[in-house]
Amino acid sequence: MIELSGVHKSFGTLEVLRDVTLTVPAGSVTVILGPSGSGKSTLLRCINHLEKVDRGRVRVDGELIGYRRAGDKLYELSERHILKQRAKIGFVFQTFNLFPHMTALQNVAEAGGGIELLERVGLAHKAHSYPRQLSGGQQQRVAIARALGRQPKLILFDEPTSALDPELVGEVLDVMRDLARAGTTMIVVTHEIGFAREVADTIVFLDEGRLLEQGPPTEVLDNPQHERTRAFLSKVL
Ligand code: ADP
Ligand code: MG
Repeated sequence: MIELSGVHKSFGTLEVLRDVTLTVPAGSVTVILGPSGSGKSTLLRCINHLEKVDRGRVRVDGELIGYRRAGDKLYELSERHILKQRAKIGFVFQTFNLFPHMTALQNVAEAGGGIELLERVGLAHKAHSYPRQLSGGQQQRVAIARALGRQPKLILFDEPTSALDPELVGEVLDVMRDLARAGTTMIVVTHEIGFAREVADTIVFLDEGRLLEQGPPTEVLDNPQHERTRAFLSKVL
């Protein structure tokens, strides 16, 4: 479903992603762990072409992201085509990013969804509330409903609970767990190890832009192969 092969990304002289190769099967959940600055957000942003990769390829559902092939040449897609591709990939940010002047329902409708998506995240009764009238957890659930609006092929989550008060984390993870159970293809950057252990099919550990470790939770969390992974886990567990 999603395939990254040999992805490199630098900002100036700073190498942020180094030869990242990763396959995410349809209907699976991949959790990305890694220290701050290891390239997790950049990796997600490369998948929907918010960042252009320097080398390597990203494919979603067989489609090359950001480029089209003609013969043996690659051409960059027009902004219009890139937006079309991006619409197939839901993105949930740490900071919700709802439109403040729109109600919950208008936020979801703007992305092609409707009340049934608010129902799905348990917020149909808040359809006519504005973001400022909602708790952080509720706002994030609206953001998830919005990400579902165009029936995306996959949803990327970038630390979706990091900005929430601790007592609001659970309700957002519950919604994500439901999506996972329904077979949604998801890539989730999070430090919620309990969630990762329970929901992830695959956990990958990113360190200084390298994908150091990759496997089921029982392997990566309980029997990590790299010292760097052990050191990281000892801090977050
Ligand atoms: P993470 O999400 O794992 O904390 P990021 O992907 O946000 O890491 O960042 C990885 C590195 O790339 C950091 O050193 C960050 O400062 C740098 N970086 C990210 N985006 C940019 C950018 N647009 N310009 C320059 N440096 C960036
Ligand atoms: Mg980040």
